Amino acid sequence: MIVNMSASATKEQISHVVERIQECGYQAHLIQGAERTVIGAVGSNGRRAEIEALRAAPGVQDVIQIAHPFKLVSRQLQQRRTIVDVGGVQIGAGNVTVMAGPCSVESGEQLMETALAVKAAGANLLRGGAYKPRTSPYDFQGLGVEALRLLREASEETGLPIVTEVMSETDVEIVAEYADMMQVGARNMQNFSLLRKLAILERPILLKRGPSATIKEWLLAAEYLLAGGNKNVVLCERGIKTFETATRNTLDLAAIALVKELSHLPVIADPSHGTGIRSLVSPMSKAAIAAGADGLMIEVHPCPERALSDGPQSLDLPGFAELMKELGTAPVREVKAA
Ligand code: PEP
Ligand code: MN
Repeated sequence: MIVNMSASATKEQISHVVERIQECGYQAHLIQGAERTVIGAVGSNGRRAEIEALRAAPGVQDVIQIAHPFKLVSRQLQQRRTIVDVGGVQIGAGNVTVMAGPCSVESGEQLMETALAVKAAGANLLRGGAYKPRTSPYDFQGLGVEALRLLREASEETGLPIVTEVMSETDVEIVAEYADMMQVGARNMQNFSLLRKLAILERPILLKRGPSATIKEWLLAAEYLLAGGNKNVVLCERGIKTFETATRNTLDLAAIALVKELSHLPVIADPSHGTGIRSLVSPMSKAAIAAGADGLMIEVHPCPERALSDGPQSLDLPGFAELMKELGTAPVREVKAA
């Protein structure tokens, strides 16, 4: 339920409503807009009728039902778009944030060469997998802590904040020591114990959409993070499984546009995993931006043919520079702040 306070509501009237919501067995989430305050009553076991009765309380304009099962991520509760700050880089502020780097961190040289090149081309964040969720146990699994150290070194050299995947609950502390943004991979989108653990950190989270997850399930996974206290969430559409086999996944562009309507959280697109095909990364990057994406995640490798993972979808260094040049000259999308 949402309690809309009137524009002239006093601090005392707002505190009274917050207290009543808590007395009724709900959590109260205060959202202060430019003109008025909205208070969300969130939970499952509260006394609903008493919240509805708050219509009669002083300073209350209206009490309405939140139409979706996700509440805190919903735009119904918060109109204002969330901007997530990752080491000084603002995601969702109206510009297109680009996260680029190798699928996997393979060596110090490979990472540093890529980091310097993507920085020079205009990337905003450095990506690189240290813990890799591979379909086969016989494939390269990532360098683990060694990769985290290399990422930090590359970040210090280039000034780019780091985004890297945390695959398991047991790795949360170690990844948090090194990463500016923690990525929850597609296969882990509904790992609820991992989400709960990440929810109590303040560290920004990049939440990838599960390959078979509906938009509702994806937003409910994000709800776990917000309900647990972490508001710094960026969503990432990375392609879903469909009957199509010509591309690795089907990049769901409509999901980007729809999630921007449903939620105030920033949404980025990953056309590398979304297509699996290098030549499609550039056109789908532009398509994602046209659909409203706040950013892109792009896999880049100095020599894709030698990559230990995802070479066929990785851009080489000149290919990435070319993409950035094209994006730079693309018409700027107008983003409404509210
Ligand atoms: C990745 O970003 O390297 C990755 C494994 O992505 P996803 O979880 O989307 O497959
Ligand atoms: Mn990859």
